[in-house]
Amino acid sequence: MKTQHPNSARWNQRATELDAADTLSTFRQQFSLPQHDGADVVYMCGNSLGLQPARTQEYFEQELKDWRGLAVDGHFKARNPWYSYHRWFAEPLARLVGAKPHEVVAMNSLTVNLHLAMVSFYRPTSVRSKIIIAGHEFPSDRYAVESQIRVHGFEPADTLIEVQPLPGQSTLTTEQICAAIAEHGDSVALVMLSGVHFYTGQRFEMQTIASCATSVGAHIGLDLAHAIGNVELKLHDWGIDFAVWCSYKYLNSGPGAVGGMFVHEKYAERPDLPRFAGWWGNEESTRFLMQHDFTPSYGVDGWQLSNAPVMNMVGLRASLELFDAAGFPALCDKRNALTGLLHEILMDVFEAHPWAKVITPADPSQRGAQLSVQFEHDGRAVFEALIARGIIVDWRTPDVIRISPAPLYVRFADVVRVGEALNAILQEFS
Ligand SMILES: *Cc1c(COP(=O)(O)O)cnc(C)c1O
Repeated sequence: MKTQHPNSARWNQRATELDAADTLSTFRQQFSLPQHDGADVVYMCGNSLGLQPARTQEYFEQELKDWRGLAVDGHFKARNPWYSYHRWFAEPLARLVGAKPHEVVAMNSLTVNLHLAMVSFYRPTSVRSKIIIAGHEFPSDRYAVESQIRVHGFEPADTLIEVQPLPGQSTLTTEQICAAIAEHGDSVALVMLSGVHFYTGQRFEMQTIASCATSVGAHIGLDLAHAIGNVELKLHDWGIDFAVWCSYKYLNSGPGAVGGMFVHEKYAERPDLPRFAGWWGNEESTRFLMQHDFTPSYGVDGWQLSNAPVMNMVGLRASLELFDAAGFPALCDKRNALTGLLHEILMDVFEAHPWAKVITPADPSQRGAQLSVQFEHDGRAVFEALIARGIIVDWRTPDVIRISPAPLYVRFADVVRVGEALNAILQEFS
């Protein structure tokens, strides 16, 4: 016999109050939710693929219409001229990552941008060749850093340093990361860190770690896949050298949508920095002279390769308008409230089922909108049972369910439904 959790009534009451007081509640109507048994799913997967904003279709149709009616003239005469389409993103992206507009650009995809950034900021020498990353890093990032190491004639076995959690721990401490940086000292060329770890949901203390990296003369690069649109960022003030991101997770821009890159202002006028060049990175004034000499544009624009992939950018435009309308500080407050309620409810549920535990830090300043639940057994079956109930979370091998209540469209009531479902499901496996 499955029983309701004794605190269920209290959870529901809290959620009702919080939903009633939620000043961002209307934003949910700006998104399309998949259906399950005739009702909206409970969508807790915005950390993997964000929902579609209602405006996205209209924005696509605008570009299709201008292409149909204007063809090549659309470069300058489309309602949103394609020639300069990428420029619209500089201001809103700068607001989200805490940068100046000439430090950010929407282009390519995350892994491509990571490679482009490393071409410029990973220049190993026989003395200084090491890259420090966090343990259990996302495979694409690992492949990228390992292949860069090999391209330069070094071996990952001696050159790639992975900082692992202490025995019995799931997450890293800032002290541990900084101790590893200090230990390897002037042999460290690059500290390559995720802003928020994809597996554990831990938000790293980016500013402190950047200082540790800089103090040994290493570059600091950030992968913001799980951080942009999720947590507060101040890349310029923190002195981050470069950062890269994708826009289909918390930024709701659609599958495979355009990624982005930040390069700190201190490199804005460094034509001497080695880079992979393309015509779109050339100074605008001479770009169309079709000369042979490459003159990089001021700022991160000088890392662009190709003209703006407009069809791959419209989703980002529709989405960033919503971020600006909601205001990021308000979104962060709601994120903390939603994730906090989810954390409390999970603690209640797991008390009777100690084979499940939250591995994401309990301190809100050390996480964003994701809680990762680790299972000693039957995790995959629990995941499938949640999906069968229309609760969309994801599974990451070997043993984690990630639950992410993105504040733009998730309600407090949805968080309670996750708790009630987990409470019922876990009883079947105990
Ligand atoms: C989602 C994600 C990626 C995805 O990379 P793409 O190049 O966009 O396919 C890379 N790294 C991390 C840490 C991610 O979470």
